[in-house]
Amino acid sequence: MIKITFHLFIFIFLTLISQLGGIAWLIAMLFRRRLLVFLAAYSVLSFAALWVAPIFGREPISCSASEPLHMQSPIYCVLNRQYVVPELKATMQDLAKEMQNEFQNTTTLLLDANFPFITGFPLLPHLSHNDGRKVDIAFYYQNEDGYLPERTRSPIGYFAFEDGPTSCSEKLLTLRWDLVWLQRFWPNLTPEPKRMTAALKWLSGEDRIGKIFIEPHLVEKFAVHSSKIKFQGCRAARHDDHIHVQLP
Ligand SMILES: [Zn+2]
Repeated sequence: MIKITFHLFIFIFLTLISQLGGIAWLIAMLFRRRLLVFLAAYSVLSFAALWVAPIFGREPISCSASEPLHMQSPIYCVLNRQYVVPELKATMQDLAKEMQNEFQNTTTLLLDANFPFITGFPLLPHLSHNDGRKVDIAFYYQNEDGYLPERTRSPIGYFAFEDGPTSCSEKLLTLRWDLVWLQRFWPNLTPEPKRMTAALKWLSGEDRIGKIFIEPHLVEKFAVHSSKIKFQGCRAARHDDHIHVQLP
């Protein structure tokens, strides 16, 4: 009984973080060299998804650092969290091109997108990334010498918060984590205002974008006002470490 519970727990955990990991674990259970078989099965399933997911309407964002648009960390690609519908991929590629046209050597980095298969399958801890139509964009960062391509404050892009005035005071039962203890570990970088403003302006004027979530104090700071820019509410995750965008 304990053994079954253990395997069930592993199956659920791997499925929740990577969608395909649970299936790879089930396959591995049929063999004696479980870890080895798991790694092999997981690799085969993840590579196969790159070709199979587009048949079902989801395309992977590039994981290659040589592209103007790519996933911020390999971890998103390893966990199959880099899939979106073709329209959102094309929109993000156009944003990246526009940013490069306006500012040379600018890379647009994406964070959590969606899993390769099944509309409605949750990508935790996000509340809404379940249909391929939502994606998070990393901030463009600078230090005292200027813009830093390929850099974010935290290793995965999330959880390095830009503090500012907020009307949220509720701390219980929310996804609005402050993670105060973590903030001291981040390098002293700040969002690069020209690129942040340009990206928000382009997204706001783009018909293929329906909603943009970013914290109100950053809307003021980057001075981009649009009916598409919304506040996600006090119970959802903070949006002063990334920009969330979604199709209409
Ligand atoms: Zn999001």
